[in-house]
Amino acid sequence: MTSSSNPPSVETILTHAGRDPDSQFGFVNTPVYRGSTVLFKTLDDLDAQKQRFLYGRAGNPTTEGVEDVVTALEGAYRTKLVPSGLAAITIAMLSCLKTGDDILITDSAYEPGRKFADGYLTRMGITARYYDPRIGAGIADLMQPNTRAVLAESPGSLTFEMQDIPALAKAAHDNNARLIVDNSWASPLYHKPLALGADIVVHAGTKMFVGHSDAFAGTISTTEEAWADVERVRTLLGFFTSGDDAYLVSRGLKTLAIRMAAHQERALEIARWLEQQPEVASVIHPALPSHPDHALWQRDFTGSGSLFAFVLKPAPRDAVAAFVDGMTIFSMGYSWGGFESLCLPVKIAKNRTVMPWTNEGNLFRLHIGFEGTEDLKADLSAGFARYVKAR
Ligand SMILES: *Cc1c(COP(=O)(O)O)cnc(C)c1O
Repeated sequence: MTSSSNPPSVETILTHAGRDPDSQFGFVNTPVYRGSTVLFKTLDDLDAQKQRFLYGRAGNPTTEGVEDVVTALEGAYRTKLVPSGLAAITIAMLSCLKTGDDILITDSAYEPGRKFADGYLTRMGITARYYDPRIGAGIADLMQPNTRAVLAESPGSLTFEMQDIPALAKAAHDNNARLIVDNSWASPLYHKPLALGADIVVHAGTKMFVGHSDAFAGTISTTEEAWADVERVRTLLGFFTSGDDAYLVSRGLKTLAIRMAAHQERALEIARWLEQQPEVASVIHPALPSHPDHALWQRDFTGSGSLFAFVLKPAPRDAVAAFVDGMTIFSMGYSWGGFESLCLPVKIAKNRTVMPWTNEGNLFRLHIGFEGTEDLKADLSAGFARYVKAR
């Protein structure tokens, strides 16, 4: 990015960073590098280990192109591309922890990350405790001398509680612990946790970065201080993302800004419409004034994502089945971030250990994609009619 005095906008970073046409015969995109072996010309070169690339597992121009873009967006020291969002979370946790340490995890955290903490970290002699996502500065009271990491996810990707990242960062640092933030929902366009005090930011690149539901990836971006520990764990565990997958991330990133803007606008349109529907008990979207943490969203975010939830008035399982099974535009499935809209019934109780979910009624998570919003509303309306009938 050769340019004038001002730092480039995110749109320019997304379209120009991480590629170097001059070194690729003028072709616009960094191609897919497939490679394990990297050749050395002389014994001096081999001994010096000074080449830009030494072995494919450490990275190649395709993976580094993606890392450079995310580094610029997050305002990070560096970024590593890893095979999935979950890998980003597990590497980030391991980079902060050793036997005898303790981690505090938001009760709203992505479930597989919880499973890793409960099922694996505990076997390493690390304690994993959960905290109220809305605890804010009160997390200081939960700190133990051995607490070395705090995991936040703001908003939680099923229930959308917002977290006070600056307050969590301060309490973590006062206790010599690191704050890890899962920033998948907002993307670095609308929220920059490192600027608010976080040490490590992870993304499920699978979602918004890839943007087309056709590849897995994760990213870990850190401050300079946290970088060496992350890179050491990643290297020791042998995590690497193929050039093919990295290419799909780099391709998705080119349009991230316009996709996020479109997701934001369309999700808000549907959310506001849902607030008017008689069967809807509540809409849980941080950018709506009705959200209990709306003020935090206003303070720390510059936009909102594709994903939110709503609660339908209580009804038995048959009514939920009638609602989702008959949908023709919305599909049902895990993940999100693609062009296709998704509607997922969510059972939250088993995911909660400190903050029980007390909302009556049935919870659904929506990802709003790029179909016509009138078609999406009609699909939901017809679903509500089936829901009421089956109740
Ligand atoms: C999907 C998701 C992940 C995990 O990403 P994968 O690439 O599926 O492993 C992590 N965090 C959040 C918030 C997610 O939605």
